[in-house]
Amino acid sequence: MRLILLGPPGAGKGTQAQRLVEKHGIPQLSTGDMLRAAVQAGTEVGKRAKAVMDAGELVSDAIVNAIVAERIDQPDCARGFILDGYPRTLVQADAVEAMLKERGIALDTVVELVVDDKALVGRIVKRAEDAKAAGQPVRKDDNPAVFEERLREYYKKTAPLIGYYYAKGKLRGVDGMASIDAVTTEIEAVLATTVKVAATAK
Ligand code: AMP
Repeated sequence: MRLILLGPPGAGKGTQAQRLVEKHGIPQLSTGDMLRAAVQAGTEVGKRAKAVMDAGELVSDAIVNAIVAERIDQPDCARGFILDGYPRTLVQADAVEAMLKERGIALDTVVELVVDDKALVGRIVKRAEDAKAAGQPVRKDDNPAVFEERLREYYKKTAPLIGYYYAKGKLRGVDGMASIDAVTTEIEAVLATTVKVAATAK
């Protein structure tokens, strides 16, 4: 199963991806997590990405495309993967298509978590508070000022992917404002139809 989770920052992509990992036994490929790990490790990529991420802007397509292309060739991705926070631009979407085609595999579906922007800042603030309470590091970009920029980036560069995947017949919208369990149920319902259809079509 190859799935893309689409939606603005704070929509719940990471939370739902983790549930999908547990249920389907395929990895979550979060470019945000991979970039944060690179920053933490002080790699060349991490050094180049840090300031951009702290400002809430997008890291270059070339960097993230290279990271994902390398990651999907790992053995744990053989049965499929969940792309979380990638692709985020039309250039990245074209890159995904090329990567999959090169490897003779297909994308099953793109799930868009549809949310109300006004609720998102509250979710981000809560995520930062929860991380702090749990003694975990708080993401530098999880604050209202940077969040505004991340949301602007989303509308400018990522939202066009909704039309891109709709035109390809791949897009399925899910109500991201419902409870976490209800969103999971709705995503599973989408997968039950789209993934089966893709499997029969092969
Ligand atoms: P996320 O954890 O998905 O919210 O990503 C955190 C930050 O990492 C974003 O605000 C970007 O700076 C960077 N980032 C993550 N994924 C991508 C991507 N696909 N393209 C460009 N930048 C990304």
